[in-house]
Amino acid sequence: MSYVLPLWTPPALKIAGTDKEFPVRRVHCVAKNYGEHIREMGGDPQKIKPKFFSKSAHAVASGIENVEINYPRATNDLHFEVELVVALGADAKIFGYGIGIDFTKRDLQGEAKKAGMPWDTAKNFAGAAAVSQITPIEVTGEMTQGRITLARNGDVQQDGNLNQMIYNVAEIMEHLNGYDALLPGDIIFTGTPAGVGAVEKGDVMDCTIDGLPDFSVRLV
Ligand code: MN
Repeated sequence: MSYVLPLWTPPALKIAGTDKEFPVRRVHCVAKNYGEHIREMGGDPQKIKPKFFSKSAHAVASGIENVEINYPRATNDLHFEVELVVALGADAKIFGYGIGIDFTKRDLQGEAKKAGMPWDTAKNFAGAAAVSQITPIEVTGEMTQGRITLARNGDVQQDGNLNQMIYNVAEIMEHLNGYDALLPGDIIFTGTPAGVGAVEKGDVMDCTIDGLPDFSVRLV
């Protein structure tokens, strides 16, 4: 058996404290998981059923403490959303946690919402899933609370707590697994707190989550 194209390797995340890497199979994302963010987007927070979308592994841009991302095409309103990222290892159990930015072309997302169409063009593009190194759960313990922040060029714009999630990580995993089996190598973006906003080329976003190494993303 041979392939008509050279095989590519999956994107991989560094693992804190080791020289091993975590290969990414699939990127799941939760929409609308913090009440204040739902309100800032003009919605009404309700706990009925979590809403999901996904990005392809191709969208992953990873770095240990920082990464550079090219400002994507076809948008004039690129937004950051800082999120806790959960990485699933053997038996699709939590392997560890990282910090991610779910980049969103808000202008395209707005058009899609209006038309009742999918969000793919707004959410799934190279660099749309920026992810830090992963810290194993043996080090962090189960992460159910802790401050989560994003500062744009030094100004704190997002400042929330993981305990404000409408659906906690266990509930997110249970719902996702109900639709399709979660597998080793899957990562989950767990939703963003309030304060999302637009970024320009040259901006630096410094992100923190209590208990995890800091992560910074520069748009170039
Ligand atoms: Mn998001």
